Amino acid sequence: MELFKSMDNLEEDKNQESIETDVEKVKCLIIGSGPAGYTAAIYAARANLSPVMYEGLQPGGQLTTTTEVENYPGYPEGVTGPVMMEDFKKQAERFGTDIRWGLATSADFTGDIHKVTIDNKKVIEAESVIIATGATAKYLGIEAEKKYAGSGVSACATCDGFFYRGKDVAVVGGGDTAAEEAMYLAGLCKKVYLIVRKNYLRASKVMQERVFNTENIEVLFEHNTKDLFGENGVEGVVLIHKMGTPEEKEVRINIDGFFLAIGHKPNSDIFTDYVDTDEVGYIQTIPGTSKTKAEGVFACGDVMDPVYRQAVTAAGSGCKAAIDAERYLSEKS
Ligand code: NDP
Repeated sequence: MELFKSMDNLEEDKNQESIETDVEKVKCLIIGSGPAGYTAAIYAARANLSPVMYEGLQPGGQLTTTTEVENYPGYPEGVTGPVMMEDFKKQAERFGTDIRWGLATSADFTGDIHKVTIDNKKVIEAESVIIATGATAKYLGIEAEKKYAGSGVSACATCDGFFYRGKDVAVVGGGDTAAEEAMYLAGLCKKVYLIVRKNYLRASKVMQERVFNTENIEVLFEHNTKDLFGENGVEGVVLIHKMGTPEEKEVRINIDGFFLAIGHKPNSDIFTDYVDTDEVGYIQTIPGTSKTKAEGVFACGDVMDPVYRQAVTAAGSGCKAAIDAERYLSEKS
């Protein structure tokens, strides 16, 4: 049995590796497949940029985990997030976008040609790159979230709510996502506790009204989550009411499911050496454009938008990114 390879053999392996490294040259690479990515793809394809899109871990993006979308223009009766994303995808494909499975695992934007590695394997050499990687759900950071991952803790009510039919659950958060998740779960579960750390909801007025008018939702204002308990999966949550005040007290509630809806983190980690980000990680673009600090690299959607974060604003910014990419490429040539 050969235990150690000779230098010659190692050199041979290296050469073999470089032959096997899959390198592909493209004009326009789109990373991410939410409303921003698909819209960028529609525009880039119609501008003859022959875009190649890698869909990422969650094809269709965050909207595929929501239920009803009622505020996207053009759908007077509303539409579900997954159906809407399927429509976007079909439209992008209709004009020739090459849509592929795969996750961008590293990037190098130092040269004129930008290199993006897919699944740690394939290297795409792109003349222009559109980053549309979106954002990912945040967790509280308590140990119990890891302990009960997949057995009572979830960050997606529409994905996992089904498992809690007729049971009691809790949703943490006070924004539109939390309100939406609570409403969705209220239709399936016996009781939904909405755990809000402040004494008001940040959700829009219309969502607040829906929450307050739903009989089986109980809003617990000024409650922070301390821990979860349970032998076989989540059986309850330990909350601290009025934390840091003289009235502070511990409250224990029995629940079967614990849902997080406390916001998102932008998926910008692999790009931070080359583009500017704010302290949270949102990519900063030159105001009024989708241009990043790296020439030929553009950003759109939730990965660069800490303020609006709507499907329609993401789509609009995807359009801008494709137009910016097209202008960049035509000026370059
Ligand atoms: P938001 O940032 O709006 O809200 C996050 C909520 O989670 C806040 O109530 C925040 O509390 C709370 N929170 C954050 N960290 C913690 C923590 N560690 N412990 C307890 N609570 C915490 O995020 P959303 O995901 O709700 O919404 C993002 C954007 O998307 C918004 O602009 C929203 O309007 C939009 N949206 C629109 C929808 C629609 O129109 N159909 C649906 C869903 C989202 P605090 O207020 O104290 O900071």
